[in-house]
Amino acid sequence: MLSFAPKMSYTLRSATTARRSCNILQHMRKYVVMGVQGCGKGTQAKVLASRFDLTHICVGDIFRWNIQRHTKLAARIKRIVDGGDLVPDEIVEEVVQRRLQEHDWNFGFVLDGFPRNRAQAEFFLESYDIDAVVLIEASDDVVVERVLARRLCTGCGLDYNLIYHRPETPGVCDVCRGSLEARPDDVEEVVRNRIANYHVQTAPVVKVFERKELVFRVDGHLPPADLHLKVCESLKLPKPTA
Ligand SMILES: [Zn+2]
Repeated sequence: MLSFAPKMSYTLRSATTARRSCNILQHMRKYVVMGVQGCGKGTQAKVLASRFDLTHICVGDIFRWNIQRHTKLAARIKRIVDGGDLVPDEIVEEVVQRRLQEHDWNFGFVLDGFPRNRAQAEFFLESYDIDAVVLIEASDDVVVERVLARRLCTGCGLDYNLIYHRPETPGVCDVCRGSLEARPDDVEEVVRNRIANYHVQTAPVVKVFERKELVFRVDGHLPPADLHLKVCESLKLPKPTA
């Protein structure tokens, strides 16, 4: 079952912090960024986090961090994935919950890759006062094209994209000269399947947030900088000064 920190204790903690510094509470921002893989949500979440001192909580990054360090969690995930299953919602939930309970997000957070289903979204809303959910929309064909253009350096792990971030020499990493390869599961049929699953899984989550009028839809076909401007407009945040 879900066991997010109860709202009451969080509110008390905030009140104490508020007495210490009004500014922190005034500027506390809690956002969720949603969208299908390849819509640009990682980039948007990172920009938001860095411009407004928010903690970027990315479920994928937390998993990758654990896998690189061979943690117990990584072993659990590996067993599941090797058995041909997806990482179950309970593990995702546990990871996000633990991460949020670190309370290192003085100015707020941007959550990326969570919640994944209706139950998680409802409990999440009960536990945290979310300011807004940014839903980045892009057509399936566009995201498929973007995902299929991804390349990963086999030497240093740097990401490339043949549409946005091309290497200087085709097929060779700019940094370590390692060879660039597509991920084995980035083939069209698998990608289309992942996208279809995303739509099925996410529609109910969006509905939960829409009931609270938290959802702001932005056009994921825009280039990243323009998309960031739209996000700022939607969230009534100051735009970057040119
Ligand atoms: Zn490299």
